[in-house]
Amino acid sequence: MGIDIGRTNLRAALVSAEGEVLASVRERTDVSGGPRAVEEQAAAAFERVGGRDACAIGVGIAGQCDVTRGVVLRGPNLFWPDVPFRDRLAGRLNMPVTLRNDVVMATVGEWRLGAGRGCQNMVAVFVGTGIGGGAIVDGRLLEGASGCGGHFGHISVQLDGPRCGCGRKGCVEAYASGLGLATRARSDPALPSSSLSRAGIDGAAVSQAVEENDALALRLRDEAAAALSSALGSVINCLEPRLVVLGGVVMDMPGLYERCARGALDSCLPSHRSVAIVRSSLGDLSGAIGAASMALDPL
Ligand SMILES: [Zn+2]
Repeated sequence: MGIDIGRTNLRAALVSAEGEVLASVRERTDVSGGPRAVEEQAAAAFERVGGRDACAIGVGIAGQCDVTRGVVLRGPNLFWPDVPFRDRLAGRLNMPVTLRNDVVMATVGEWRLGAGRGCQNMVAVFVGTGIGGGAIVDGRLLEGASGCGGHFGHISVQLDGPRCGCGRKGCVEAYASGLGLATRARSDPALPSSSLSRAGIDGAAVSQAVEENDALALRLRDEAAAALSSALGSVINCLEPRLVVLGGVVMDMPGLYERCARGALDSCLPSHRSVAIVRSSLGDLSGAIGAASMALDPL
């Protein structure tokens, strides 16, 4: 079974060993309730998808994880203190739990069962409420020293750019994530003449305004595409993947994917331009499916 705990949505899926989704649920993450409330949600989702039939649980969570200790670390996503989430959930559900960052799990999902199947060198970048990703290098998941590798959202693309949630300036997340787009829209002098001024602003609202050809939204999309292209070019230059998989709800914004795919190729080294850039194929459930797949590894 896989549970994908994002900052906005929690998704859970019961998955066969072949990667077929047998049952799934999706609901808003109770972020304001803190670790206890999210643990309750995960346990309830476990029961609703028939988790008693599973042999192990994989959990992907929007935050930095110490993989060895199974601890979600204090960070700019959920604002939890260090929480031993793996052992708490394993004790409660009486089942082994594997814990990773949510987009690391989504990367594994796309690699083993989605758009990256069979690829030995690939990078996946997911643009949602935040931006994250993961890398497969020479056939192995890049984890980093403690399992915190792959935070591509905090690649700075402008030294004096807008302040990011991590405290640094000019991170691509501050330009192109759902939160970043909303923050930039709210502080833009052109807001009063934009259709965005009429309702609550989030990534989905900016996407809707792009659909309506709103001038401010189109400009924010183009700036997001430029920032993502620059960051993707840097990642491609560092890791030389064969394949880049782009996913996340913000990537569904009209015209964004095409601009990023073209822009990434324009901004990477000429020797790396044979890289293929594709959309994710598992959609909304890539994180839960990847988490379920990774739960089997220790067994
Ligand atoms: Zn940052």
